[in-house]
Amino acid sequence: MSAQHAQQAHQPHEVVERLAAEGIDVVRVGYPDLIGTDRARDVLLSHLPSACAHGLAFCRAVYHTTPQGDVVPVTGGLDAGLPDILVRPDLDTLAALPWEPGVAWCLGDVSDPRTGAPAPESPRDLLRAVLARCGEHGLSPVVGPELEYFLCETDPAAPGGWRRYCETSGAVYTTGLRADPDNHLLRLLRLLRDLGIGVTNGNHEFEGAQFEINLIHSGAADAADRAFRLKSAVKELARREGRLATFMAKPFNNAGGSGFHLHLSFQDAEGRDVFDAPSRPHGLSVTALHAVAGLLAHAPALSALANPTINSYKRFGPHTLAPWLIDWGLDNRSAMVRVPPERGAGARLELRLGDASANPYLLIAGAVGAALLGITAGEEPPTPLEGYGYDTTRSALLPSGLTAALDALEADTALTAVLGKEFTTAFLTYKRNEIERFQQHVTDWEFTEYAYHL
Ligand code: GLU
Ligand code: MG
Repeated sequence: MSAQHAQQAHQPHEVVERLAAEGIDVVRVGYPDLIGTDRARDVLLSHLPSACAHGLAFCRAVYHTTPQGDVVPVTGGLDAGLPDILVRPDLDTLAALPWEPGVAWCLGDVSDPRTGAPAPESPRDLLRAVLARCGEHGLSPVVGPELEYFLCETDPAAPGGWRRYCETSGAVYTTGLRADPDNHLLRLLRLLRDLGIGVTNGNHEFEGAQFEINLIHSGAADAADRAFRLKSAVKELARREGRLATFMAKPFNNAGGSGFHLHLSFQDAEGRDVFDAPSRPHGLSVTALHAVAGLLAHAPALSALANPTINSYKRFGPHTLAPWLIDWGLDNRSAMVRVPPERGAGARLELRLGDASANPYLLIAGAVGAALLGITAGEEPPTPLEGYGYDTTRSALLPSGLTAALDALEADTALTAVLGKEFTTAFLTYKRNEIERFQQHVTDWEFTEYAYHL
């Protein structure tokens, strides 16, 4: 069974019959929370029709819960007496879990039982709303996600209890046992292929124990679903082996961070790539330039979604492969927006801003929203960066930290109008609580820096 194969089957009782014949007895129904972690419930197959009819009840504060398990006082959660949200299995997304016999996995659609409408914090619905706006302009975004992560092993002596699985240096763009002595990547790729989420290839990335997995390009909603499932699956498969796969932006002081690069283009109603214009300079349409301008204009606000943790801003910097300035260039990896060299149906932008910790739905919604704002406003970008970048007299810096990014998001009323007021308020409240907690916390760095000499 694959996600594609399941698309015809919408009648829960028929689905139950089919799954039972395939030896499936549990359906895992998962959905993204605000930070893009998967929340889920394992439903016994005989109860699937009831879950489809009535929904699975979760506490709405699942969206307001920190990675440490505390509930942040976001409107509609604690203050409302911790009410329910309902999650209905999206049977179009059913796929058998290749590594967990008897279990099929699908995504869930989240609604607020008081209104019957999508839950205001639901990232999947937020993206749908942004895509509906694109539809009003006759545009369908196409997205290709690339995700990097580190694979770690337990080490009681390491800070945090985890060390990198392998410390080989200089193994960028390699495969095989030299930098992956346990063949992690091959094992993973085959399981991800069998899951049917459109994984195309993978390789060892720049840093020891860092890997990159690439996904096919498809409609933005589908691409977000697949990126979300990829992160979830990679984490799950690492845990299965007693390891930790982390999509944290910059987990180690002695290694660069992990990116979540997005390839982005828009198609018109005829399915034509509207960025392609063979007769124009660089083969790029005016629409492509407007989209670049939108991404640049809204980059400070967008970074709140693309770089959503306190740690995210430690990945940025000059002379890294991560961005530092708000700029764009033609096939230039030192720029925040790179225009890869392909044209025709492959004409696209590569937004290199996002780090791997970003919630795929929010990153894609924000990027598409910013590009659309540029297109509708007819904004013009500056001339593209030439050569190796990092000239602060030429381009503005990205926000230096999460506080600045959240402030930029709040101030960017054009982008927050696209994202919706209720979502934006929830996101800002949740993330500002994270900053408050961090500011109260005495870090290892402070002790090392001050305790002995002062
Ligand atoms: N690891 C880099 C980043 O954080 C990207 C490396 C690459 O160009 O693939 O964005
Ligand atoms: Mg990479």
